[in-house]
Amino acid sequence: MAAALKQIAASSGWKVYDKSLDAHGGTALAMVRGKEGKFLLAVGEGELFEELDGTVIAEGEAKAAPLTHDNRKVLNRYFPYTAPRALGTEIATIGLGDRLGIAGPGQLQAVKGKKIWPVLAQQSIRELHLTGRSYEEVLDAACYAVFQEGFRDGFGADGDHLKAEADIELALRLGFTMLTLDCSEHIDNDVASMDGGQIRQAYETYPSAIRERYEQRYSGKTFAIGEESIAFDAGTLQGYVCIYSKAIDFMERIYNTYIVPAGREIDFEISIDETLTPTDPAAHFMVAQELRERGVHIYSMAPRFCGEFQKGIDYIGDLGQFEQELKVHAAIADHFGYKLSIHSGSDKFSVFPIIGKHTSGRFHVKTAGTNWLEAVRTVAQVNPTLYRRMHAYALEHVEEALAYYHVSMKLEEIAPLDRTPDEQLPAYIEEDNARQLIHITYGLLLQAQDEQGKSLFKTEFYETLDRQEEAYAEALRGHIGRHLELLGKS
Ligand SMILES: [Zn+2]
Repeated sequence: MAAALKQIAASSGWKVYDKSLDAHGGTALAMVRGKEGKFLLAVGEGELFEELDGTVIAEGEAKAAPLTHDNRKVLNRYFPYTAPRALGTEIATIGLGDRLGIAGPGQLQAVKGKKIWPVLAQQSIRELHLTGRSYEEVLDAACYAVFQEGFRDGFGADGDHLKAEADIELALRLGFTMLTLDCSEHIDNDVASMDGGQIRQAYETYPSAIRERYEQRYSGKTFAIGEESIAFDAGTLQGYVCIYSKAIDFMERIYNTYIVPAGREIDFEISIDETLTPTDPAAHFMVAQELRERGVHIYSMAPRFCGEFQKGIDYIGDLGQFEQELKVHAAIADHFGYKLSIHSGSDKFSVFPIIGKHTSGRFHVKTAGTNWLEAVRTVAQVNPTLYRRMHAYALEHVEEALAYYHVSMKLEEIAPLDRTPDEQLPAYIEEDNARQLIHITYGLLLQAQDEQGKSLFKTEFYETLDRQEEAYAEALRGHIGRHLELLGKS
């Protein structure tokens, strides 16, 4: 049957993605590419053949099925490896965001055969808005990439940084297998700038039942966590209660309202990283201990680490202090049986070996924008004119993007475009300032239109990468591969 499929494809001038070839009942199926782009080619007969929606060709022997949402659901039913699943806490995982919906094949090639599992379809609501995509499209793209690559090791799908209950409900309904709960709106950032007296005053406004609960459990107590010990005095405890107690209640409520009733395994991640100040290891412990006591099972927790984890560039801060604190955070995660999650984890090459070591290789690292940057790097290589136009536009409109992202780039240090020859354009993506400029302006670039409403870059950008899909995959293999190597997963 596979031979018949290849023959039909060859006679029509279509390319078959060999790794995708699979069969069910009397139907052979593969991802193929024709002049108009990719589609599924089914050859034979049977339920799978009937259920796929498409055009019957080759005198009834074959069907060309477009990459629609409905056909993706059919694919998931007949080939379960194409559907995301919960990955659990025992293995290392890497979140691989794909804002464009075309990074999947290269990302899967990068992790294939390594002792780390991919969480694809990792997208926040902000990213959806900025790219004009829906959660259905994000998940469809991931599943089709998995089919194209014949990747059968399992993958997750992450509804990332969700805050609103409607979004949580939607992501779970669509089959996302990981849910990252963003607790930032329930974390009190003002406490960081209060003195002891002000904290005590704020603390006194909490109901006595809540205060007593925390005091009984933590005040004046010391807890042994592996080789570390964690102590609470009355003052720091008051601060932690003010900062985190509402967030802990929120985590508990979401867990009981959405995660438990879902009735299936879900990798439930708690994110307390989007705050102004680093998470004290003792505060991390208190949150974890509260969750355990309340019966909330989590997959991972993302604290805010000391130093800076800016988008798309290496770690900024004191490596010694980072290692000290990471050790304690990792010990806490280990004690409670979940994984430490590292957000904005791309390109943090100087801290990857530390993370690999102290988590004993059991971690979750999230990357997103770096996969977009590799797409831009590829465009700079193969379509310099387009890159130049995008670069100039990004410089002109960067102020709008700064409303969303905190970065410390210095625009004046970016080499002038008009004095940079074509062959040096990809090097912009190596330089931190230009890198951050392109990193944060993805939404503006993808949405930019001329007066007639025609896209300024998006269409050509996609067409370029579609023609050069192997070049993009190669860039991802190299760049993500470097992450994995330093994390100890080569
Ligand atoms: Zn985060």
